[in-house]
Amino acid sequence: MDLRSKIREVPDFPTPGIGFKDIMPLLADAEALQEAIDLMAEWAEPRRPEVVVGGEARGFFLGAALAYRLRCGFVPARRPGKLPLETISREYALEYGSNALELQADALAGDTRVLIHDDVLATGGTARAMADLVEQLGGVVVGFTFLIELAFLNGREQLPGYDALALIKY
Ligand code: AMP
Repeated sequence: MDLRSKIREVPDFPTPGIGFKDIMPLLADAEALQEAIDLMAEWAEPRRPEVVVGGEARGFFLGAALAYRLRCGFVPARRPGKLPLETISREYALEYGSNALELQADALAGDTRVLIHDDVLATGGTARAMADLVEQLGGVVVGFTFLIELAFLNGREQLPGYDALALIKY
């Protein structure tokens, strides 16, 4: 199955010069959705994750599906102000703009094995922030899965020593 054909490229969104990779056609296609989840789960399974952490918002869709398939819990990394109790926070630079993500301070027990998922690896700031948050809570990052890697932005350089799978590379 050609998963790449299910990604819609939208030029100049959300700002001029950005080639936005729209994953919604892939999510809407039953076969592509299943294949994407299966491929990521098969890669992640031997790494024995206990929890999947997904980044707001597009990392929630397949992150939660992966957690179900891997019999893991799911923990969302959320935008500031969305989580109700004590949180830890990391700010980072984006391909377009800057942002921050937060985890609830009691989201992970120490030594929990964590798989981190997001839709796109671009400059790597988001993924790195999620790894830092997980490790601040004593979690162990066992790998990253992405649907898409924008390899020309060298995001993997932000993830030295970590294993990362991307199903589609540009
Ligand atoms: P980065 O922190 O630069 O690796 O950016 C990754 C995050 O930004 C992911 O959560 C993506 O959802 C989003 N993102 C960055 N660039 C793109 C793009 N070209 N198309 C779609 N999403 C993107």
